[in-house]
Amino acid sequence: MVKKVLLPQPIEPEAIETLEQAGVDVVTAKDPSPETVRPLLEDVQGIVLRTGITITRELLGSADQLQVISRTGGGLDNVDIEAATEQEVIVTSNLGINTSSVVEHALALMLSLSKQLPLMDRAVRQDDFRIRYKNLPRDLRGKTLGLLGFGRIGSDLARSCRQMFDMQVISYDPFIPESIREQYKGIVEFVEREALFAGCDVLSIHVPLTDDTHHAVGEKELESMKPEAIIINTSRGPVIDQTALYNALNNRKIAGAGLDVFEKEPIPSDDPLLTLDNIIMTPHTAALTWECVVRMAVAAADCVLDVFNGKVPPNIANPQVLELDKWRGLSPTR
Ligand code: NAD
Repeated sequence: MVKKVLLPQPIEPEAIETLEQAGVDVVTAKDPSPETVRPLLEDVQGIVLRTGITITRELLGSADQLQVISRTGGGLDNVDIEAATEQEVIVTSNLGINTSSVVEHALALMLSLSKQLPLMDRAVRQDDFRIRYKNLPRDLRGKTLGLLGFGRIGSDLARSCRQMFDMQVISYDPFIPESIREQYKGIVEFVEREALFAGCDVLSIHVPLTDDTHHAVGEKELESMKPEAIIINTSRGPVIDQTALYNALNNRKIAGAGLDVFEKEPIPSDDPLLTLDNIIMTPHTAALTWECVVRMAVAAADCVLDVFNGKVPPNIANPQVLELDKWRGLSPTR
């Protein structure tokens, strides 16, 4: 029987080609509303899911033949994993595929702030070439990078900054195993939380948003930083207390900030951060490079094909299903 995969929203042509070349029928919903998607679920074996719809218990009730839900991104907040597990459906996501793109974005923000690119650009356009004599740009070489979070993105950024700019790297991450600490011995100094904020010239944030990390960077932490320090946040907006950040930037307690993420997205048009000249903002685009979205969509399609081909796909969110008779025969990963 030819397998069918539902796309509640269109995905990149490269990923559709991957599915079609494998002999799979691809059905694209005309819109991702539950009303449109519900009848389409009846005879599909796979879903490649973006973020426009939540696959609820109720929707899963219409998907008798479903075997796998594969998210194009890392987040799984739009899948009822418990209901999927009860229905013996494998749920996968994409972890790590966007790492290099987010690292590049963090570097771009870091360099733009250090070299004062927006300010310099405005000055050139306003016929203020003499701004060059103010020596406003700063170098990164030899400075200290502080990493809050040393997972995939934090560790990759550490390596890049060491190699490119010979930066010293300090990090606070209480959850990394001893083996990683050993691996980075002599390259990264793992420090206590207070020492991270006080010791860095560039603070770059790479933690997930949890109860512990909500407002992890607030007034106290900002007060303890060097006045010439800059902050880069490509993780999640609420990790920084945005009011405290505004005050610190406005009072020049720190030199600048580069933000890809905000407490509220989109950032409200009357947010005081928008009035500051020592901040650079991007609209949560760190992982939205052309190359990255293609990589993510193709990887999601590959996960569906893994299941169809009797293989265990990577990053299963409900690994307990692998114990079920239905899935016990899957062969180890590709
Ligand atoms: P990861 O899971 O590999 O690493 C996260 C690290 O944070 C882990 O090492 C963990 O131990 C550490 N951590 C957790 N709680 C902590 C705490 N209280 N204090 C210090 N460290 C703590 O994740 P990643 O792939 O490196 O991504 C990091 C974050 O970046 C993600 O959680 C996500 O929110 C964000 N992200 C944003 C974009 C974007 O488009 N801007 C794209 C991808 C990821």
